Amino acid sequence: MSRVFLASRNAKKLAEMQRILAEHAPGIEVVGQGGVPTYDEPVEDQPDFEGNALLKARAGLAATGLPSLADDSGLCVDALKGMPGVLSARWSGPPKSDARNNALLLDQLADVPADRRGAHFVCAVAFCHPDGTELVVHGRMDGRIIGEVRGAGGFGYDVLFAADGHDVTTAELDTAEKDAISHRGKALREIAPQVASVLVRTNISSE
Ligand code: IMP
Repeated sequence: MSRVFLASRNAKKLAEMQRILAEHAPGIEVVGQGGVPTYDEPVEDQPDFEGNALLKARAGLAATGLPSLADDSGLCVDALKGMPGVLSARWSGPPKSDARNNALLLDQLADVPADRRGAHFVCAVAFCHPDGTELVVHGRMDGRIIGEVRGAGGFGYDVLFAADGHDVTTAELDTAEKDAISHRGKALREIAPQVASVLVRTNISSE
């Protein structure tokens, strides 16, 4: 079985990624941060999701020597011209707090009517292999920001986000329902077979 390092310190995001990969790339053993020596994560200073995902996957590969996957994701709100975007995790300033981020977003949209509360999540997933192969894919989930916090599942802005075609927030969906429609689920389902084929090819060429 091939080992792949999943470079994320967000435990809930990591659980989502491990769950989806286990289903779509079953021959891969996914190693989390707990399975490798501690290393300094890079500062996420790129202007787009793809750049930050690549930064994290390259750092994971450099620190562990293992083929590495990383995601960068965020919420883009139409009424805020696409913000918080790459700033989603730290929208209300340090230290990172989902509750403060959600309170700030609700304040910022307080006067925005229901028909102008469109938003979407974006996820870029990058994979870097020691042989120099680099892959990047994207996923997207469209929806809207509701007027109050609802639900106890998921993480981040899930309590405020209702996906298109749903009356409940993504924090009220069960994990399989969220994975089926989420930006991260879509990106991981796309990259999983590509990662599997790189691993097969490199295992064969190293035999
Ligand atoms: P990252 O760890 O730098 O990629 O930060 C992503 C941030 O975007 C998270 O901290 C959340 O605030 C937000 N985010 C990304 N994906 C999701 C999701 O599936 N649900 C809710 N919030 C998300």
